[in-house]
Amino acid sequence: MKIIIRKNSEEIADLVSERVLNLVFEQPNCVLGLATGSTPLETYQKIIEKAKNRNISFKNVKSFNLDEYCNNEDFFQSYRYFMDIHLFNHIDIQKENTFFPKSQAPENYDENIKKCGGIDLQILGIGRNGHIAFNEPNTPFESKTHITNLDEKTIQDNARFFHSIEQVPTQAVTMGISTILQAKEIHLIVSGKNKAKTVQTLLKGVDPSCPASILNTHPNTTIYLDQDAASEIESL
Ligand code: PGA
Repeated sequence: MKIIIRKNSEEIADLVSERVLNLVFEQPNCVLGLATGSTPLETYQKIIEKAKNRNISFKNVKSFNLDEYCNNEDFFQSYRYFMDIHLFNHIDIQKENTFFPKSQAPENYDENIKKCGGIDLQILGIGRNGHIAFNEPNTPFESKTHITNLDEKTIQDNARFFHSIEQVPTQAVTMGISTILQAKEIHLIVSGKNKAKTVQTLLKGVDPSCPASILNTHPNTTIYLDQDAASEIESL
Protein backbone atom coordinates (compact mmCIF):
# COMPACT_ATOMS: atom_id res chain seq x y z
CA MET A 1 0.00 0.00 0.00
CA LYS A 2 1.37 3.37 -0.99
CA ILE A 3 1.15 6.05 1.73
CA ILE A 4 0.94 9.73 0.85
CA ILE A 5 0.99 12.33 3.62
CA ARG A 6 -0.05 15.92 2.93
CA LYS A 7 -0.45 19.02 5.06
CA ASN A 8 -4.22 19.14 4.82
CA SER A 9 -7.30 17.60 3.25
CA GLU A 10 -7.39 20.18 0.47
CA GLU A 11 -4.03 19.03 -0.87
CA ILE A 12 -5.30 15.44 -0.77
CA ALA A 13 -8.47 16.41 -2.62
CA ASP A 14 -6.30 18.03 -5.25
CA LEU A 15 -4.33 14.82 -5.81
CA VAL A 16 -7.30 12.47 -5.85
CA SER A 17 -9.42 14.69 -8.10
CA GLU A 18 -6.47 14.93 -10.48
CA ARG A 19 -6.25 11.13 -10.69
CA VAL A 20 -10.00 10.82 -11.31
CA LEU A 21 -9.98 13.49 -14.02
CA ASN A 22 -6.98 11.92 -15.75
CA LEU A 23 -8.71 8.54 -15.77
CA VAL A 24 -11.95 9.98 -17.17
CA PHE A 25 -9.97 11.86 -19.81
CA GLU A 26 -7.97 8.76 -20.86
CA GLN A 27 -10.82 6.29 -20.50
CA PRO A 28 -14.11 8.17 -20.98
CA ASN A 29 -16.20 5.04 -20.33
CA CYS A 30 -14.49 4.15 -17.04
CA VAL A 31 -16.33 2.83 -13.98
CA LEU A 32 -15.96 4.76 -10.74
CA GLY A 33 -16.65 3.50 -7.22
CA LEU A 34 -17.88 6.38 -5.09
CA ALA A 35 -18.25 7.08 -1.39
CA THR A 36 -20.43 9.35 0.74
CA GLY A 37 -19.64 10.97 4.12
CA SER A 38 -17.64 14.11 4.82
CA THR A 39 -14.34 12.74 3.56
CA PRO A 40 -14.84 12.86 -0.24
CA LEU A 41 -16.66 16.21 -0.32
CA GLU A 42 -13.59 18.35 -1.09
CA THR A 43 -12.53 15.87 -3.76
CA TYR A 44 -15.97 16.05 -5.39
CA GLN A 45 -15.85 19.85 -5.30
CA LYS A 46 -12.49 19.82 -7.07
CA ILE A 47 -13.70 17.26 -9.63
CA ILE A 48 -16.63 19.58 -10.45
CA GLU A 49 -14.36 22.64 -10.84
CA LYS A 50 -11.68 20.88 -12.86
CA ALA A 51 -14.16 19.07 -15.13
CA LYS A 52 -15.74 22.43 -15.94
CA ASN A 53 -12.44 24.25 -16.49
CA ARG A 54 -10.97 21.50 -18.66
CA ASN A 55 -14.19 20.53 -20.41
CA ILE A 56 -13.94 16.91 -19.33
CA SER A 57 -17.11 14.92 -19.90
CA PHE A 58 -18.56 12.21 -17.63
CA LYS A 59 -21.22 11.37 -20.22
CA ASN A 60 -20.00 7.79 -20.67
CA VAL A 61 -18.82 7.19 -17.10
CA LYS A 62 -20.65 4.72 -14.87
CA SER A 63 -20.58 4.87 -11.09
CA PHE A 64 -21.34 2.46 -8.29
CA ASN A 65 -21.75 3.86 -4.80
CA LEU A 66 -20.54 1.90 -1.82
CA ASP A 67 -23.71 1.82 0.23
CA GLU A 68 -27.23 3.04 0.95
CA TYR A 69 -29.41 3.10 4.06
CA CYS A 70 -32.23 0.57 4.41
CA ASN A 71 -35.74 1.47 5.60
CA ASN A 72 -35.06 5.13 5.15
CA GLU A 73 -38.29 6.99 4.46
CA ASP A 74 -36.56 10.31 3.97
CA PHE A 75 -35.18 10.76 0.43
CA PHE A 76 -33.21 13.80 1.60
CA GLN A 77 -31.22 11.54 3.90
CA SER A 78 -30.48 9.00 1.19
CA TYR A 79 -27.03 8.57 -0.27
CA ARG A 80 -28.57 8.96 -3.73
CA TYR A 81 -29.65 12.49 -2.74
CA PHE A 82 -26.21 13.15 -1.20
CA MET A 83 -24.47 12.19 -4.45
CA ASP A 84 -26.93 14.19 -6.56
CA ILE A 85 -26.35 17.42 -4.67
CA HIS A 86 -22.62 17.02 -4.05
CA LEU A 87 -21.52 15.66 -7.43
CA PHE A 88 -23.93 14.28 -10.02
CA ASN A 89 -26.00 17.47 -10.50
CA HIS A 90 -22.82 19.41 -11.32
CA ILE A 91 -21.21 17.17 -13.95
CA ASP A 92 -22.67 15.66 -17.11
CA ILE A 93 -22.83 12.06 -15.83
CA GLN A 94 -26.09 10.39 -16.87
CA LYS A 95 -28.16 9.57 -13.77
CA GLU A 96 -29.18 6.22 -15.25
CA ASN A 97 -25.49 5.28 -15.17
CA THR A 98 -25.18 5.95 -11.44
CA PHE A 99 -25.95 2.93 -9.29
CA PHE A 100 -26.64 2.25 -5.62
CA PRO A 101 -27.03 -1.12 -3.90
CA LYS A 102 -30.61 -2.14 -3.20
CA SER A 103 -31.92 -4.07 -0.22
CA GLN A 104 -33.93 -6.33 -2.56
CA ALA A 105 -31.45 -8.86 -3.99
CA PRO A 106 -28.26 -7.08 -2.86
CA GLU A 107 -26.06 -9.76 -4.49
CA ASN A 108 -27.17 -8.52 -7.93
CA TYR A 109 -24.98 -5.48 -7.34
CA ASP A 110 -21.77 -7.52 -7.65
CA GLU A 111 -23.09 -9.01 -10.89
CA ASN A 112 -23.92 -5.56 -12.28
CA ILE A 113 -20.46 -4.26 -11.42
CA LYS A 114 -18.92 -7.25 -13.21
CA LYS A 115 -21.16 -6.76 -16.27
CA CYS A 116 -19.90 -3.17 -16.53
CA GLY A 117 -16.30 -4.42 -16.56
CA GLY A 118 -15.49 -3.92 -12.86
CA ILE A 119 -14.61 -0.79 -10.94
CA ASP A 120 -11.59 1.00 -12.38
CA LEU A 121 -11.10 3.44 -9.53
CA GLN A 122 -12.63 3.30 -6.05
CA ILE A 123 -12.73 6.26 -3.67
CA LEU A 124 -12.93 5.23 -0.01
CA GLY A 125 -13.25 6.81 3.41
CA ILE A 126 -12.84 4.98 6.70
CA GLY A 127 -14.90 4.92 9.89
CA ARG A 128 -13.33 5.46 13.32
CA ASN A 129 -13.95 1.75 13.90
CA GLY A 130 -12.02 0.86 10.74
CA HIS A 131 -15.07 0.17 8.57
CA ILE A 132 -14.95 0.59 4.80
CA ALA A 133 -18.35 1.22 3.26
CA PHE A 134 -20.60 -0.26 5.99
CA ASN A 135 -18.43 -3.33 6.52
CA GLU A 136 -18.26 -3.09 10.28
CA PRO A 137 -15.55 -4.78 12.41
CA ASN A 138 -15.32 -8.54 11.89
CA THR A 139 -17.30 -8.59 8.63
CA PRO A 140 -15.88 -11.55 6.66
CA PHE A 141 -13.25 -10.44 4.17
CA GLU A 142 -14.93 -12.58 1.48
CA SER A 143 -18.30 -10.79 1.87
CA LYS A 144 -20.17 -9.56 -1.20
CA THR A 145 -22.83 -6.85 -1.28
CA HIS A 146 -25.15 -7.48 1.67
CA ILE A 147 -27.46 -5.98 4.26
CA THR A 148 -25.83 -5.14 7.57
CA ASN A 149 -26.65 -3.74 11.00
CA LEU A 150 -24.76 -0.57 11.75
CA ASP A 151 -22.27 -0.50 14.61
CA GLU A 152 -23.11 1.71 17.60
CA LYS A 153 -20.05 3.90 16.83
CA THR A 154 -21.22 4.34 13.23
CA ILE A 155 -24.71 5.36 14.35
CA GLN A 156 -23.20 7.91 16.75
CA ASP A 157 -20.90 9.28 14.05
CA ASN A 158 -23.70 9.55 11.50
CA ALA A 159 -26.08 11.24 13.94
CA ARG A 160 -24.48 14.59 13.02
CA PHE A 161 -26.34 14.45 9.69
CA PHE A 162 -29.74 13.95 11.42
CA HIS A 163 -31.85 15.96 13.89
CA SER A 164 -31.56 13.21 16.50
CA ILE A 165 -29.77 9.90 16.89
CA GLU A 166 -33.13 8.06 16.83
CA GLN A 167 -33.53 9.07 13.17
CA VAL A 168 -30.32 7.39 12.03
CA PRO A 169 -31.21 4.19 10.14
CA THR A 170 -29.82 1.12 11.89
CA GLN A 171 -29.39 -0.97 8.73
CA ALA A 172 -27.74 -0.43 5.39
CA VAL A 173 -26.97 -2.31 2.21
CA THR A 174 -23.28 -2.22 1.47
CA MET A 175 -20.71 -3.48 -1.00
CA GLY A 176 -18.89 -6.33 0.69
CA ILE A 177 -15.19 -6.35 1.42
CA SER A 178 -14.46 -8.70 -1.49
CA THR A 179 -16.53 -6.44 -3.77
CA ILE A 180 -14.32 -3.49 -2.82
CA LEU A 181 -11.10 -5.48 -3.18
CA GLN A 182 -11.93 -6.23 -6.80
CA ALA A 183 -11.51 -2.57 -7.75
CA LYS A 184 -8.47 -2.14 -9.95
CA GLU A 185 -7.27 0.93 -8.09
CA ILE A 186 -8.29 2.17 -4.63
CA HIS A 187 -7.79 5.62 -3.10
CA LEU A 188 -8.43 5.70 0.64
CA ILE A 189 -8.66 9.22 2.06
CA VAL A 190 -8.24 9.81 5.79
CA SER A 191 -8.15 13.13 7.58
CA GLY A 192 -8.46 14.35 11.16
CA LYS A 193 -7.06 13.46 14.56
CA ASN A 194 -10.08 11.29 15.41
CA LYS A 195 -8.92 8.78 12.76
CA ALA A 196 -5.22 8.72 13.80
CA LYS A 197 -5.53 5.62 15.99
CA THR A 198 -7.54 3.86 13.28
CA VAL A 199 -4.74 4.56 10.78
CA GLN A 200 -2.20 3.17 13.23
CA THR A 201 -4.19 -0.07 13.59
CA LEU A 202 -4.73 -0.35 9.85
CA LEU A 203 -1.02 -0.04 9.07
CA LYS A 204 -0.06 -2.73 11.60
CA GLY A 205 -1.36 -5.45 9.28
CA VAL A 206 -4.46 -7.44 8.45
CA ASP A 207 -6.86 -7.59 11.39
CA PRO A 208 -10.56 -8.54 11.05
CA SER A 209 -11.50 -6.06 13.78
CA CYS A 210 -10.27 -3.30 11.41
CA PRO A 211 -11.87 -4.12 8.02
CA ALA A 212 -9.81 -1.47 6.20
CA SER A 213 -6.64 -3.35 7.14
CA ILE A 214 -7.36 -5.85 4.35
CA LEU A 215 -6.31 -3.09 1.95
CA ASN A 216 -2.72 -4.00 2.93
CA THR A 217 -3.21 -7.00 0.60
CA HIS A 218 -4.61 -5.05 -2.37
CA PRO A 219 -2.08 -4.58 -5.20
CA ASN A 220 -2.99 -0.99 -6.07
CA THR A 221 -4.15 0.98 -3.03
CA THR A 222 -3.00 4.45 -2.06
CA ILE A 223 -3.80 5.82 1.38
CA TYR A 224 -3.79 9.62 1.69
CA LEU A 225 -3.31 11.06 5.18
CA ASP A 226 -3.36 14.62 6.38
CA GLN A 227 -0.93 15.49 9.17
CA ASP A 228 -3.52 14.88 11.89
CA ALA A 229 -4.50 11.45 10.58
CA ALA A 230 -0.80 10.55 10.26
CA SER A 231 0.05 11.76 13.77
CA GLU A 232 0.16 8.28 15.39
CA ILE A 233 2.17 6.54 12.68
CA GLU A 234 5.60 7.18 14.20
CA SER A 235 4.59 5.31 17.35
CA LEU A 236 3.91 2.10 15.37
P1 PGA B 1 -16.74 10.35 7.15
O1 PGA B 1 -17.17 8.84 7.12
O2 PGA B 1 -16.11 10.63 5.85
O3 PGA B 1 -18.03 11.11 7.33
O4 PGA B 1 -15.80 10.51 8.30
C1 PGA B 1 -16.26 7.91 6.62
C2 PGA B 1 -16.84 6.52 6.72
O5 PGA B 1 -17.61 6.26 7.66
O6 PGA B 1 -16.53 5.70 5.85
